[in-house]
Amino acid sequence: MTLLYEGKAKRLWATENPNTLRMEFKNDATAFNGEKKASFENKGRLNNEISTLIYGFLETAGIPTHFVRQIDATNVEVKKVSILMVEVIIRNLSAGSYCKRTGIEEGRLFSQPVIEFSYKSDELGDPLINDDYIREMGLATPEDLAHLRKSALAINSILIDFFAKCGLRLVDFKLEFGRLVEDPSIIVLADEISPDGCRLWDIKTGEKMDKDRFRRDLGGVMEAYQEVLGRLKEVTA
Ligand code: ADP
Ligand code: UDP
Repeated sequence: MTLLYEGKAKRLWATENPNTLRMEFKNDATAFNGEKKASFENKGRLNNEISTLIYGFLETAGIPTHFVRQIDATNVEVKKVSILMVEVIIRNLSAGSYCKRTGIEEGRLFSQPVIEFSYKSDELGDPLINDDYIREMGLATPEDLAHLRKSALAINSILIDFFAKCGLRLVDFKLEFGRLVEDPSIIVLADEISPDGCRLWDIKTGEKMDKDRFRRDLGGVMEAYQEVLGRLKEVTA
């Protein structure tokens, strides 16, 4: 099958169906806009399993997504979308670049979720943008943006509860959305949801269970991902 795209963490392959893709999870990990690189045995499998469980749960909760089916350990079939070049970040507690930008310490609980947008551009390092930038850059209409905001908040509420059942605090995460190629009037949740793109802290110990273990050289990266998967499996069984 034809390789359509190779990214930092996944590959996209054509299928016999022009409206679907095979999305392959790689073992590669990157951080700081690709500056830091490594490869972890089983990372592709763990992220695929975690993301598949989360997408299944979101679909059941009524969130439209690109997910079709899991093909095997490292591959899923997804509906092909035209990705909106806006990344949606939702924060429930302060961490990462929020702390860098504001000088506020890590771990402050927000009174309401903080939503931010960044321009999906590796070349520019995914810069922070606002509603006016998005409108003027033609990345999404104000109506689409309102829809993204509403969907992101709904997904956040669902996932906060879901992860809490697993003893995990959902600190922040990144979402991508796209228009279905078979019907561009429909915008769905796309890409993946895994510890690569979420901050997850153990509710009891505060231990980091996500890609920050790699970013900050804390060790035990795959052990943490495996633990997240184990807990997700328990609550979805
Ligand atoms: P990056 O492109 O940032 O290196 P990945 O390695 O995760 O990231 O590559 C996966 C790519 O596939 C991303 O650019 C993402 O926007 C895109 N993508 C995710 N889901 C779909 C989909 N359903 N249809 C088309 N593209 C998708
Ligand atoms: N995130 C992501 N991809 C990006 C940028 C951020 O998956 O290109 C996720 C990241 O894993 C974290 C959340 O979005 O869970 C917020 O990230 P932040 O803006 O703090 O970025 P950082 O400084 O960690 O790169």
